[in-house]
Order: sequence, then structure tokens, then C-alpha cells
Amino acid sequence: MIKIGMIRCEKNEKKCPLTNCIKCHDETVQGFSEYDECSLAGVFTCRCPGDNFTEMVKVLKAKGAEVVHIVTCAFSNKKEDSWSLGNGFCKQIDEFAISASAEAGIPVVKGTAHLPEGYIPEVFK
Ligand code: SF4
Ligand code: SF4
Repeated sequence: MIKIGMIRCEKNEKKCPLTNCIKCHDETVQGFSEYDECSLAGVFTCRCPGDNFTEMVKVLKAKGAEVVHIVTCAFSNKKEDSWSLGNGFCKQIDEFAISASAEAGIPVVKGTAHLPEGYIPEVFK
């Protein structure tokens, strides 16, 4: 059992209640397929310009998260029925993931639900 923290983007907070993120977490598929079993430690919503991203990761760790996943829509976009890498909501998400994983001392993973075809979740640690 691994405890998961999630961070989503405010640009989608009124359109998506994390439905597929939570489903994939519960079923350990897509961005969570590396785990046998997951338990959700908590969810934060990032707000532009993302100055508190690292702090959110630190708090999630303090609340028990062993790894933090960033929602797929932050770095991917939907075209008709499938998702493609790039043109997500956040242009700085890699910078945030790099510094947050280093400063908080836990892995930060890009990916939750509906991963783009061929994409293997990128792990920053
Ligand atoms: S990754 Fe998908 S399910 Fe998760 S918040 Fe974004 S749009 Fe919603
Ligand atoms: S900084 Fe990036 S992840 Fe955070 S709310 Fe803005 S666009 Fe979304």
C-alpha cells in the first residue's frame, strides 16, 4: 500500500472533479499502474503562478504521502477522444516538479489518468 498525494491545476477545477484521476488511483491503472494498492493521502489545487507548489508537496508529505502525482491535464491536451503530450494547462510544471521533489525529498510524478499513448509517467526525484 502506498500513500498518494495529488496536485491539480486551478484552470480545470470547475470543470473536472478529478473523476478519472481518482478512478485510476483506486484501480491502480494508468499513472498508478506501478503500485499494487493506493491510498489517497490528500489533494491540493495549485494556483497561478504556482509559487506554493513546493510547499504543497511538503504538506502532502507531512500528511503521509510517499509520492505526489500531478494531474495529466497539466501537461497534456485532449484532441477529440484521445490525449496528446504537450499543451497542457501549465508551461512550468517540469520546473515545479524538479524543485519540489528535491526540496521536499519525495518523488513527484507527472501523470494520473488517461495518459497519452506511449507516455510513461515521468518521475522526478
Ligand atoms: S487529469 Fe483528467 S480526470 Fe484528472 S483533473 Fe485533469 S481532466 Fe480531470
Ligand atoms: S502554476 Fe501551472 S499548475 Fe499551477 S495553477 Fe497555474 S497553470 Fe496550473
